[in-house]
Amino acid sequence: MDYSVARRRMVEQQIVERGVTDKRVIDVMNTIPRHLFVEAGLQGHAYGDASLPIGEKQTISQPYMVASMTAALELQGDERILEIGTGSGYQTAVLSKLVRRVYSIERIASLAARARKVLDKLQVSNVNIKIGDGTIGWCDQSPFAGILVAAGSPDVPTKYLDQLDVGGKLVMPVGGQDKQTLIRVTCLGDGRFEREQLMGCRFVPLIGEQGWKSDSFA
Ligand code: SAH
Repeated sequence: MDYSVARRRMVEQQIVERGVTDKRVIDVMNTIPRHLFVEAGLQGHAYGDASLPIGEKQTISQPYMVASMTAALELQGDERILEIGTGSGYQTAVLSKLVRRVYSIERIASLAARARKVLDKLQVSNVNIKIGDGTIGWCDQSPFAGILVAAGSPDVPTKYLDQLDVGGKLVMPVGGQDKQTLIRVTCLGDGRFEREQLMGCRFVPLIGEQGWKSDSFA
């Protein structure tokens, strides 16, 4: 099945027409085969304007959200990036084409394994995936020029601020269990940070030491 027409339409209608202007992000999303990141029965929906289930009560993020969060990092190409919540690996694949290296953490081992398999199939070789609690970041590999968190948390885990390079940007959903606000935090140096609110959003919970304690509310 050739999904290239559906993919181009997705990028045009859901991403470009809604105001994402970063050309590199647009070009990459025109090439990554999003249908390979969902199960066979859902492939026909992979280019729709929605998140989709990927098992384990988790979801692959909506294409517009992936584009917006990626663009908000203002990537130039030489960065090392931390991603929290590998999930399907789709966002990871998009990031991998835009930076030097992606460090991605997923707490559910089966999802991490499946994501790794798809990324290998696509010959993506600049991604390190770790299984564990991403709310404490990845200290050994810090500082990062960007941190992208694909799960919602009551507030910004302090370790993310510690692991952000000067000039680096953190993009993540913050708020309650039902809805959050996508925020961007820029590290200005000398312990100073600028915090911006980008848009309302809805993500699965970030579960761990510095996030929600469990997903029992879901
Ligand atoms: N970017 C992914 C989004 C997956 S949903 C995609 O588009 O496919 C969010 C993911 O965050 C889930 O897979 C969930 O298991 C993971 N997650 C939640 N809390 C986490 C934590 N503390 N550390 C790492 N991953 C976490």
